[in-house]
Amino acid sequence: MKAALLTGIGKIEVREVPEPQLTKNTDVLIRVGAVGVCGSDIHYYSEGGIGDQIVRYPFIVGHECSGTVEKVGPSVRRLKLGDRVAVDPAIVCGACDQCLAGRPNTCRRLLYLGTPNQLSGALCERIVMPEENGFLLPAELNLDEGVLVEPLTIAVHSLKLTGEPVPDTAAVLGAGPIGLSVLLAARAVGVRAVYVTDKIDGRVEVARKAGASWAGNPDREDIIARMISLAPEGLDAVYECCGDQSAFSQAVELLKPGGRLLIIGIPTGDRISFDIHALRRKELSLHNVRRQRFCVREAIDLIRNKQVDVRFMATHRFALEDARQAFELAAGYRDGVIRAIISL
Ligand SMILES: [Zn+2]
Ligand SMILES: [Zn+2]
Repeated sequence: MKAALLTGIGKIEVREVPEPQLTKNTDVLIRVGAVGVCGSDIHYYSEGGIGDQIVRYPFIVGHECSGTVEKVGPSVRRLKLGDRVAVDPAIVCGACDQCLAGRPNTCRRLLYLGTPNQLSGALCERIVMPEENGFLLPAELNLDEGVLVEPLTIAVHSLKLTGEPVPDTAAVLGAGPIGLSVLLAARAVGVRAVYVTDKIDGRVEVARKAGASWAGNPDREDIIARMISLAPEGLDAVYECCGDQSAFSQAVELLKPGGRLLIIGIPTGDRISFDIHALRRKELSLHNVRRQRFCVREAIDLIRNKQVDVRFMATHRFALEDARQAFELAAGYRDGVIRAIISL
């Protein structure tokens, strides 16, 4: 089968690779239909790794994907041939302390699609996954929406981790696919005012259209003064979705005492700093978000029930052969790209 392989920093080649095989009775073979080029894929492409997850070449990336079931193992009960599925990219052991504690997203033996030293990715014609990782797509959802389920699950999880009560005011710092998904999920759960920032004017505009109460560019205006004028007591929650040091500092300023900071973005460096005195005086809560757990069904239902519309995020489409162009486009934030999707 054909696959797009990372072969060095900034290099992708389409080559023939062996077909994947069903190994367990509970596995399904999925013909990949669409793959999103995610920020983490771009880290692997442009920098060769994230933290200590270093790519060994050649390597297939890609974890946001949807497709059609083409073969099932003898013990597969729920999925059948021809089913269209959104893929949950995390394969968990189900037996470690984390899995037993209901935290499979921090499973000790977690294997994640398209992650170095874990699992080869989805930028190829076929992948094998356990049946439990395939989530049936209702007829109303197309394969692009199936791809966009994955970033939406992270948003749904982030809103859950925020806890009660649902914030009245919130900021989303960074309006890429994750930030925009958080905006949509926040609206869906009833956050009254959601303010969004991004350094790309096009994304600020997209955030406005997607339902932000206000959106602005920190390079063009004093976004803190603006948000504080809109919410003089400060914000209940901030969703950091860009990994930029400046956003962490803004979050600490923006939050009201007792406010909650959800850290979702992937920083380029390995260290982020905070004004500890502001953190302690305001008694702010910091919560890291590690992907998601148990949110796939809910994300699919949010789309199906038209509580959120994610389709505007699929801005560009490429063939597998043109994977490199997709990565270059996404890495350069060019041409108004939100999510580049590779269709097979
Ligand atoms: Zn992703
Ligand atoms: Zn586990």
